[in-house]
Amino acid sequence: MSEIPPIWIVEPSAREKRRQFSRILISRGSPPDLEAIKLRLRELREHSLHEHTSLLAEFKDNITRYPGIQFKPAGDAEEAADYIQEVAQRTQSIIVNRSSIVTNELKPRLERRGFCVAEPYYAEFHFFENRVRDYWDLPYLLRKELVGNFEISISATELCLPPRCGEAVKNCVAVLGVNAASAKDGSIFFLQHFSNISKSLEQARQVILIVGLDKLVKDKEDAAFQTKCMGIFGMESMLLSLRPRQTEFADIDSLPGFPELEGRAVHIILLDNGRSRILKSSFKELLLCMGCRACITQCPINRSMSQNGAIWSPRDYLFMSLLEESRSMDACLHCEACRVECPLDIDLPRLMWMAEVDKTLRADRTTKYGRTLRDRMLGNPELLARVGSLAAPFSNAALNIDPGKTIVKKALGLDRNRRLPSFHRETFKRWFARGDGRVREAVPGNRRLAYYVGCFANYYQPETGKALVQILKRNGFEVLVPDQKCCGLPMIANKNMRGARRNAEYNVESLAAVVAEGYDIITACPSCSLMIRREYLNFYDSPKARLVAEHLYYVDEYLMGLNRRGDLDTGLAEIPQSVFYHVPCHLKVQDTTGDSLELLHLIPGLSVEKVGTVCCGMAGYHGYKKVHSGLSLEIGGKLFEEIGLAQADKVVTSCGACKLQIEAGTGVKAIHPILLLQEAYGARQHLS
Ligand code: SF4
Ligand code: SF4
Repeated sequence: MSEIPPIWIVEPSAREKRRQFSRILISRGSPPDLEAIKLRLRELREHSLHEHTSLLAEFKDNITRYPGIQFKPAGDAEEAADYIQEVAQRTQSIIVNRSSIVTNELKPRLERRGFCVAEPYYAEFHFFENRVRDYWDLPYLLRKELVGNFEISISATELCLPPRCGEAVKNCVAVLGVNAASAKDGSIFFLQHFSNISKSLEQARQVILIVGLDKLVKDKEDAAFQTKCMGIFGMESMLLSLRPRQTEFADIDSLPGFPELEGRAVHIILLDNGRSRILKSSFKELLLCMGCRACITQCPINRSMSQNGAIWSPRDYLFMSLLEESRSMDACLHCEACRVECPLDIDLPRLMWMAEVDKTLRADRTTKYGRTLRDRMLGNPELLARVGSLAAPFSNAALNIDPGKTIVKKALGLDRNRRLPSFHRETFKRWFARGDGRVREAVPGNRRLAYYVGCFANYYQPETGKALVQILKRNGFEVLVPDQKCCGLPMIANKNMRGARRNAEYNVESLAAVVAEGYDIITACPSCSLMIRREYLNFYDSPKARLVAEHLYYVDEYLMGLNRRGDLDTGLAEIPQSVFYHVPCHLKVQDTTGDSLELLHLIPGLSVEKVGTVCCGMAGYHGYKKVHSGLSLEIGGKLFEEIGLAQADKVVTSCGACKLQIEAGTGVKAIHPILLLQEAYGARQHLS
């Protein structure tokens, strides 16, 4: 038996090899199947969590058989830091890799103990001219060439005890977070982009390998596959992390040599630090994570997620929040981008919501729901909107003219400089109930649809609902507006989980009843659609909720479905104009953007000048809150710039919050695509 377990390093293969491989792949015409890779990865990680106890016992048993290893199980980060301090007594220099277990959980503790902690990873990119400022600058790297190009290229069994003669040993301790470890034989795996890991392994006086409990997998093959996946899926986030940042030092070569070759050792710390607790909690899904950081690539708040000089991914934020070592997750816009980007499909936004609610409940058990008065008021947005509509136009004046504006916005914790949307005294539902939108006669073919209106179209933008009803009538549908309440999404965002559950149950009962009568359901609000189709199943799953989710369609998706079957009236008048089409985040994640664009392309003469896909930064009331409004407008800055450059005749977006943010940031009116469609229909024939 060798003195230490095999240490493997996975790294991108050389450029020529990469080209050769790409040529082979291209000529074979068989791109790697990313979905199959994700599936295997998910199975591997699920096995790792499911068999956690036996893997842990097997790893401990195997690793302690290597005579050259000093093994230390550590219950928490303090215990691990104490051990490192003891090992590193004769040096002040600690070299670490970029792994989050080290940079987030250990590095701050080591610095507090007076060590100079350096990350040579960043120094290796000093020649890199960084043009990536944010996610919108990222190239799309997850292409076929990349997938085949992470290879197991170095076996660090070359790590010698003592090192080879003549090799310079530096007076430093390397503390390296392991990317995967095999329970079967103790093999250790690292991902490396240049040479920081191999250099640290070869030259550090002492090497301390940190194995998080969640990094244990069944065997060497699984460990290699997991590490390779980290490389494949994390490539873009790597570029994002390299954006200009302040880093102190450091190149291991610049450290002083260490004359004594004896006494070199390899230590393994098996670190729990809350992982066992999380494994037993409702946040267990988080430990499926392999640490690739892909979740940061499209995260609109990624620039604000830096702490202690480290750029945190959404996973890091959540994990550190569960360890109670970070600020709250309140900055999250719940845009869902991190879930979509995660190759393991970990539902980070839902877990963040749960973490926020947990935190609030723990913080104040003396109040009814542990929420502040502001949370409670904003957690009932429909109530606010109902009162505002009944009192319109006075409510609009009170909200936007002093002293009312200052008093109300202060009470609600809103930014007094942001203009709130106007309430309509005649809401959509009142208009519909008056009979204006109703179909009074039986419709040939019995085409029937139930319309889920949503709060924004009902209270703030009734013209969208009216336009939709008219378009549906034009296409021969009987339209029903079933009983409904706010979908609950803004309630969850303001920690009103109970209220959201009540509304979800109410809506599911009401909508399931109309589905049973043969109706499909349609909505023109991307967020309501996401909430009912997806989040209801996550939070309040039931057979009826599934039935409703299966029968609810986002409007563009439904109309394009009609068109594909030849059932949509395409007698549309020409609109010879250009549009800037902004895709709301909640629509992007439902994969209906293609339908939305196709629908716009049905309008003769209309040209889509540009499709904007960056986040507007608004997220409902979020951008109005004083504490977030600055960041919200900053995030929206890129979109405002794109809109300005495009100089299109119209700006189009289907999300009410995006509309308000665009109008606030650019001064340009943004309209729902349904209004354009109505215009195209209406120009040909009056629709009333
Ligand atoms: S939901 Fe959006 S804003 Fe929130 S962490 Fe994920 S990507 Fe970032
Ligand atoms: S949560 Fe983030 S770091 Fe973890 S696997 Fe998913 S994308 Fe990668």
